[in-house]
Amino acid sequence: LSAPAPVKAPAATHCPYCALQCGMNVAAGAPEEGADRTVTITPREDVPANAGGLCQKGWTAGELLTGGRRLTTPLLHGEPASWDEALDFVAARIRALQAEHGPDGVAVFGGGGLTNEKAYLLGKFARMVLRTSQIDYNGRFCMSSAAAASNRAFGMDRGLPFPITDLAAADAVLLAGGNMAETMPPFVRHLAAMRQNGGSLIVTDPRLTATARQADLHLQPTPGTDLALALGLLHLAIAEGHADEAYVAERTNGFDAVRTSVAAWWPERVERITGVPVSQMRRAVAILGNARRAVILTGRGVEQHAKGTDTVTAFINLALALGLPGRPGSGYGCVTGQGNGQGGREHGQKADQLPGYRKIDDPAAREHVARVWGIDPDDLPGPGRSAYELLDALGTAGGPRGLLLFGSNPVISAPRAGHVAERLRSLDLLVVSDLVLSETAALADVVLPSAQWAEEEGTMTNLEGRVLLRRRALPPPAGVRTDLEILQALAVRLGGPVPGGPDMARAFSTEPREVFDELRRASAGGVADYAGITYERIAAETGVFWPCPDTGHPGTPRPFLDRFATPDGRARFVPVDHRPPGEDVDEEYPLYLTTGRVLAHYQSGAQTRRIDALNAVVDETFVELHPDLAERLEAAPGQTLRVISRRGETEGVVRVNPAIRADTVFMPFHWAGANLLTNPELDPVSRMPEFKVCAVRLERVG
Ligand code: SF4
Repeated sequence: LSAPAPVKAPAATHCPYCALQCGMNVAAGAPEEGADRTVTITPREDVPANAGGLCQKGWTAGELLTGGRRLTTPLLHGEPASWDEALDFVAARIRALQAEHGPDGVAVFGGGGLTNEKAYLLGKFARMVLRTSQIDYNGRFCMSSAAAASNRAFGMDRGLPFPITDLAAADAVLLAGGNMAETMPPFVRHLAAMRQNGGSLIVTDPRLTATARQADLHLQPTPGTDLALALGLLHLAIAEGHADEAYVAERTNGFDAVRTSVAAWWPERVERITGVPVSQMRRAVAILGNARRAVILTGRGVEQHAKGTDTVTAFINLALALGLPGRPGSGYGCVTGQGNGQGGREHGQKADQLPGYRKIDDPAAREHVARVWGIDPDDLPGPGRSAYELLDALGTAGGPRGLLLFGSNPVISAPRAGHVAERLRSLDLLVVSDLVLSETAALADVVLPSAQWAEEEGTMTNLEGRVLLRRRALPPPAGVRTDLEILQALAVRLGGPVPGGPDMARAFSTEPREVFDELRRASAGGVADYAGITYERIAAETGVFWPCPDTGHPGTPRPFLDRFATPDGRARFVPVDHRPPGEDVDEEYPLYLTTGRVLAHYQSGAQTRRIDALNAVVDETFVELHPDLAERLEAAPGQTLRVISRRGETEGVVRVNPAIRADTVFMPFHWAGANLLTNPELDPVSRMPEFKVCAVRLERVG
């Protein structure tokens, strides 16, 4: 899109999509009489994550700021309504439902794309105004397993605990289950720089993805066996003398138990389970073990499993044995996916958390946050249901009867999505705040049209833990309100917990800076401490790394250099064991289904499927399969196949690809379909569903 004459200086801001949060300049042209406004996007050079690069999603993001794709009027039972009508209706229904079913009769569901300010205020609204324990968010479906594993190993979860630019100086990177060449292409520049400097890239993935094609070594395990592979790599690393005994003694606890537990994972056994040849495992271990600086990264491919936390733990155990975390230029990191996936899990929209990444059942945390909010700690509810458990309970006896949903589209993105849609339909009240009429919004009793990224100010925390400033480039269209305005309007209508208690108009500011200043106080002293971060500092320093406890503190790009965030400062080895996927293949369902992304689309596609330039690249779902399997089924490219699991069925156009395993099919999850099939079995620690592997069969259509 190009604007002939932008009327004001471009705003230096960040992309609306993924966790790389590429820097971009957004210039808005004045709409002429009867014409649409115009938007020009150019990449910023000063943001290290992208340093002048953008992917096609970023280049075309302005399209959603123009044109008629946006919601601009509240909808009440599908009909246009005024804001007062819609908000009065919502408040009255919430009051009635909570009078009948108690505070937990109404639930809140947030999103990993919301700014820090929105995520914070949404958690405060749920707990202070609604007093419901029933709040969680779609980040639970994204990197919760890596977060849980990092917390138990390091006492802290910060996606990459080092600047992304450190990667270029590594001698080796092992990327387990990530495909950044499609999900966040500018990330690949850092890996390419590493390789140009003589380093080696190892990728584990059941598919020969665009990223795996760039690797020096590609390990292609059977879906659902990444944990066994990690155990085998650690077994070999120890057996071949690569364990860093001095580091282990000085900086960790628990290695002996892990050393004993991996003794049984000899390479031939691992090869039988994973299909990865012993020779490839030996080569991977030699590359990592001989590197002076090495990094192990995990992505959704190994995390979105019912054993995702243990799988990430196994990769962290490997990193600890090699002496990587907390060393300059080395380490373990999770490649966070959603735009504010990191900040979204720090400020209190998770079922078990309060702001500052505090635990909701910690009395000191409750005391601190209640003081900031001006309420009694006893009025704070306790932990609630995790995302899928919450969706599954909607409309059931004892479950919430009403749901307020911000920035999420679970009809497409949740596992067993057909069932989730049924649960949403069974509600007495569904309210959705969104910028477009998503598939979930289409089911809502009330839809509230909200502003989006370049139309409002706010902060995001990228995959490095760097807090960034999104600046406003243009006003929202007439008729649209910000989420902060919506929360304030509802808080004022609902009044709050105590007659004569806090003034809700003040307690729920609509000014992002005021909300951020309160967030700083609420986070002070917590793990994710933002107390010293200000809008001015972010602007002047192009982002500030948390923890940053005071305004004189420089921020913390590498938090583990001296000590880990555990009580004794030492990292924890945790023994884990392999187990098969929740659902394995059998005669009836003989193939593995794995899901993922394509370059042109983002998450549930609610935004990107409305962008013409991206639909021109790919505009429908597909089923990718190996030529041998295609031949067996007599399925040719372009034909339609039905894909059936125990939870549902869908159709997709055939794509034949020799780079996928012959026992596995792949579907992207940006369209309705793939998640009708996926397995909602949950990880016992993170409550992550098993998105990445389930059993299916294929049938030809017609
Ligand atoms: Fe960058 Fe991600 Fe946006 Fe692409 S989608 S431009 S990689 S932030």
